Amino acid sequence: LELPSTLIKVVEQFSKLQGIGEKTALRHVLSVTKWNTGDVHAFANALDSLANLKKCEDCGMFADDVFCEVCKSSDRENTKTLCVVESITDCLAIERSGQFGGLYHILGGTLNPLIGIGPEELGVHKILQRVKDKGIGEVILALNPSVEGDATCSYLREVLPEQIVVDRIGFGIPIGGSLEFLDSMTISKALENRRIM
Ligand SMILES: [Zn+2]
Repeated sequence: LELPSTLIKVVEQFSKLQGIGEKTALRHVLSVTKWNTGDVHAFANALDSLANLKKCEDCGMFADDVFCEVCKSSDRENTKTLCVVESITDCLAIERSGQFGGLYHILGGTLNPLIGIGPEELGVHKILQRVKDKGIGEVILALNPSVEGDATCSYLREVLPEQIVVDRIGFGIPIGGSLEFLDSMTISKALENRRIM
């Protein structure tokens, strides 16, 4: 059976999605063909706008603007707590738990000299600057337990001013585990049970 190239092209695009094979992609595409024109355009436009998605200049979260919704939130304006996470998905997991009302810094990885990821790549200077500018008193390290995560935490404790309380969550997170896969209850517990470094 030969499909028109219009369909084939869309199937190819859907197949790029994680966990979607060609068969499933075709099934999705065929169901979209039954949508009304308005819905198809809305779908395409929403996807298209992703190309313009920015990252917050302060914390690295996704943003439509220069700053993200968290950094812009008036509720968090006077917070004295900054939570450092590895990835945007980890940040979203903590937000989902509803247990944290401070600001974030998204590292985008962990220290790994072997592949050229140093403090500069992780924006550590930005953390130090924000701690100073916003009068942050506590930095919560919500990094996943791994050799690199541990090394990154030790490094951050070292470079942050001594009077800043630096603590790390860890309780309940299995070694090699990742925040993004934990349920909100476990994350809440992990935040509650943080240890001063
Ligand atoms: Zn932000």
